[in-house]
Amino acid sequence: MKHLIYLLLLAAALPAGAKDFSTHFEPRTLRLDYIMGGDSTDRYIMLAEQAVLPQWAGRRTRLKEVPVDGDAQIIVRDKATGDTLYRQPFATLYNEWLTTPEVNERPRSFEVTMLTPLPKREALIDVVLFNNRREPMLTLTHPYRPDDVLIARKGERTITPHRYLHRSSHPESAIDVAIIGEGYAAEELDSFYTHAQRAVDAILSFEPYTSHADDFNFVAVGAVSPESGVSIPRKGEWRNAAFGSHFSTFYSDRYLTTPKVHAVHDALAGIPYEHIIILANTPEYGGGGFFNTYLLTSARHRTFRPVTVHEFGHSFAGLADEYFYEGGDALDGSYPFDVEPWAKNITTMVDFDSKWKDMLPEGTPVPTDPKDAEKYPVGVYEGGGYQTHGIYRPADECRMRNNTYPTFCPVCRKALEEVITFYTE
Ligand SMILES: [Zn+2]
Repeated sequence: MKHLIYLLLLAAALPAGAKDFSTHFEPRTLRLDYIMGGDSTDRYIMLAEQAVLPQWAGRRTRLKEVPVDGDAQIIVRDKATGDTLYRQPFATLYNEWLTTPEVNERPRSFEVTMLTPLPKREALIDVVLFNNRREPMLTLTHPYRPDDVLIARKGERTITPHRYLHRSSHPESAIDVAIIGEGYAAEELDSFYTHAQRAVDAILSFEPYTSHADDFNFVAVGAVSPESGVSIPRKGEWRNAAFGSHFSTFYSDRYLTTPKVHAVHDALAGIPYEHIIILANTPEYGGGGFFNTYLLTSARHRTFRPVTVHEFGHSFAGLADEYFYEGGDALDGSYPFDVEPWAKNITTMVDFDSKWKDMLPEGTPVPTDPKDAEKYPVGVYEGGGYQTHGIYRPADECRMRNNTYPTFCPVCRKALEEVITFYTE
């Protein structure tokens, strides 16, 4: 009886969410590999493989909540009751591709991998992609059965060599960031670990990461590529890198992405991870970052540190680009002016209450004149999200606008802090 009372007290002491976690999930990961593809008319999401990983590195509370909506979501539902058990937002390269002219020329496919905690019972998995109006445009629902013998087990025997570069004093509840090398040949692993340490130091030198350094684990994963370097198509340079990374994504010279996403996750299997930083062993300038998917940056370019911090803003917190070009660029149209975008650091003013209105000092002119940037550290500055007009940013300068700017603006700092809290409290 005494034992029972102790157990009851223990249960009461657990946060409600943590109890939810142990009711519905095992502390292991269900890894879901998808192929997303199609063209302007036919679009599909297909399940390529399911696997179980030996640990679960993600959150154990606030399972049904999302910090922001994202361009896509994965949802785990209990099959018997239909209740939502877990949700995670993310962004895909496929969503972006659908806004490019290539979509009218030929069908293409893209790899996506998502991680969820391992359901204890039969579940339904929903993958939902939203269009740029935030409406569902493509959904796949597939069942998960715990007794399915075709669910692979990964990360149990062969684990890529890795080193912890920064460890929280509460590693279990901290945010696990894996840094993995791309285009590093076996004899270049020492320089990979040096570059990885630079990435960690750069991120942790920015607020609010500095104040929350103890909420992060950073592990460097020494993946080896057959050849040194990554592919630079506009120069005709193709390299056999482990994950096939290349510049000129969607014919945009600086856009560096990784097509072999499933292989990245294979290389990480067995190491606890939630967020992925891919370091490309190249001096060529470029990068890319996708919310809750990965970021990729050029580790040997002089802007490596600032670009890493900027791209981590995308991949970790879903922050939007605050920059814009006179005349626009290939991503024009990604934010319709009559829809409030989900990212916390830009607004169309359609639903400004949901953004940083509460941080705006009384009497702030809207739009705010960049000449008054010192007077109004938080304002409503026109231009952002690749558009000169119709999209507004919170500050004239911010690390999400400018790679030389030394801080995130107050709105981005708050957004980053909210995401850190979301994963750790
Ligand atoms: Zn900002």
